[in-house]
Amino acid sequence: MMGILNDFLVFKEQNTFEPRQILCLRCGSSDIIQKGARIGNHRFQCKSCGKYFTDSLGFEGRRSAPEYITVDVELVYVGLSIRKTVKVLHSIYCNVGRFTIHRWADQYGHMMDEYLDGITPLVGEEWRTDEIYMKIRGKRKYLFAMLDSETRYWIAKQVATHKGTDDVRPMFKQARDITGKIPSKLISDGASNFAETHKDE
Ligand SMILES: [Zn+2]
Repeated sequence: MMGILNDFLVFKEQNTFEPRQILCLRCGSSDIIQKGARIGNHRFQCKSCGKYFTDSLGFEGRRSAPEYITVDVELVYVGLSIRKTVKVLHSIYCNVGRFTIHRWADQYGHMMDEYLDGITPLVGEEWRTDEIYMKIRGKRKYLFAMLDSETRYWIAKQVATHKGTDDVRPMFKQARDITGKIPSKLISDGASNFAETHKDE
């Protein structure tokens, strides 16, 4: 599971955006394989001792699938209205009520804000941009993210309708406001809008 909320939950757990190391709950081995990718808590098996276990970091005790909560929190966090978020979730067969959807967004959004506000990011000279592609009710959307190459610290974000053509200056401004600096090197996957905006800065 990838995305803002998941990155945040991992960061909160281990203080870095490095991929999370999952260990066997019985023997502590890191020789783990994922069993299936169905909606819900992720299921793993330990190759050393054979134990099956699930991983639900940050979603302990929740009845709904982490995927649904993640989609909800991320859409609301990047500015989609609750009404539209409800529609998106219903379109992907998450049949929970408006109140629950509001509550998830509130709880996790608040958690992210509170945590990230308390951090002054120590970022390096090399940043990279990532694009996350989403399809929302048949419409393409892109989530642009700016990350510190070394720490994978997630500096800024922006939702756009078009790949490569949207104005990404708001994200650059946000990144500069948060870190107080401009990177000397910016790596992007060939998206010209990032390179051009960086040149303009
Ligand atoms: Zn084991």
